[in-house]
Amino acid sequence: MGGRRGFRGLALWGLLLCGSLRDLASAAPACAAPSDAGQFWHISDLHLDPTYHITSNRTQVCASSKGVNASNPGPFGDFMCDSPYRLILSALQHMKDSGQQASFMIWTGDSPPHVPVKELSTKIVIDIIGNMTSTIRSFFPDLQVFPALGNHDYWPQDQLPASVSEVYNAVADFWKPWLTDEAVSTLRTGGFYTQTIQSNMTAQPLRIISLNTILYYPPNTMTLNMTDPANQFAWLERVLETAHQNKEKVYVIGHVPVGYLPFSRNTTAIREHYNERLIEIFRRYSSVIAGQFFGHTHRDSIMVLLDEKEKPVNSLFVAPAVTPVMDVFEVDSNNPGVRLYQYDPLSYNLLDLWQFYLNLTEANVKNESVWKLEYVMTKAYGIKDLTPESLYEMANQLSVPHSKLFQKYYSHYFVSYDDPSLFCGEHCRISQLCAIQYLDLTSYADCIEHKGKLHG
Ligand SMILES: [Zn+2]
Ligand SMILES: [Zn+2]
Repeated sequence: MGGRRGFRGLALWGLLLCGSLRDLASAAPACAAPSDAGQFWHISDLHLDPTYHITSNRTQVCASSKGVNASNPGPFGDFMCDSPYRLILSALQHMKDSGQQASFMIWTGDSPPHVPVKELSTKIVIDIIGNMTSTIRSFFPDLQVFPALGNHDYWPQDQLPASVSEVYNAVADFWKPWLTDEAVSTLRTGGFYTQTIQSNMTAQPLRIISLNTILYYPPNTMTLNMTDPANQFAWLERVLETAHQNKEKVYVIGHVPVGYLPFSRNTTAIREHYNERLIEIFRRYSSVIAGQFFGHTHRDSIMVLLDEKEKPVNSLFVAPAVTPVMDVFEVDSNNPGVRLYQYDPLSYNLLDLWQFYLNLTEANVKNESVWKLEYVMTKAYGIKDLTPESLYEMANQLSVPHSKLFQKYYSHYFVSYDDPSLFCGEHCRISQLCAIQYLDLTSYADCIEHKGKLHG
């Protein structure tokens, strides 16, 4: 136990923690880091826009602004645009320069830009995913990366099929260096896979399950009326049952998250009936699943899965995007973010997460990308680790009326996007809070009704 590699990473970690917190907060928490832990990176929603360039005509800066004026374009991007290549390079450079020893990386999808369907093609989409794959590999040639497909990783977008396809085949070839033959083969037929990570530090391997949750995404017409698209549910139950038998621990990764969207009311991110089925499976196998990781919303949020008796049984994380783009109809965006998780290498329980971000406005002004630590989750929310029990405690703290902690959570939700008008009224607050703890229809509806009455 306790390889030198991990320890060296953590020594540096401890220093970083003390230094950064001195800047971040007036209170001086203990600068202790756990003496032994594993680490992994999580990146999501890179959304490269290859057309991004600085020009005086602001409608022409990027195709992803869809003819709308870019707001304040600079070398690292603009809040109306998807990522320039330079922004993506700066994120990966920061991760590399941090000196952190990670045992692997998860990458939860969405490489192509938000542009009208006719401006892309299967070839362009495949080329962009290939470009992002080789870019990541060039920064981390020895790191194993576990990708998941996003709704934009297809042409036309969202229409990922429940059978073999040109895109599945192409990504299977791109991702071969990271995956086993068996993983590559299910990737080809349905866009999902499972694989264990061999770690000589621990007795049991960790199993990654990369789900294709786009099969359940409402705009996907390819899977309409299917009870089990690509037989992914049956496959998932089989894999979890085997993991249970073999006493393995599992991290579930995917692009579109389960549960309810925190920014709207009564809306699941995947189709409601598929959500119910996934939640039922996750509850049944919660003792096997040590963490779940998603992207897609471009925002930073957590969920804690409760069982039927309201006992917390799973921790779920939605990582913010690298792209800063906002929809034309939105008023707020997010700064670019990447994150690092710490886990117990024996139980695979999650210990902490470190959210890094780039203040885009500042980076453009200075013509320099200084990625900073935004927060450390245990320190920011006063919890001891990221186990379901601790996240449940955090959720309860956030629910306290006029909670300062909730304001912090809401600022982190936008990755410290600097907008003084950022305010979450009662309707917004209730949506956020109910989405954190209630992932199925019945409990979510109860929460909305109950909190609605309380705050009337
Ligand atoms: Zn996205
Ligand atoms: Zn997406």
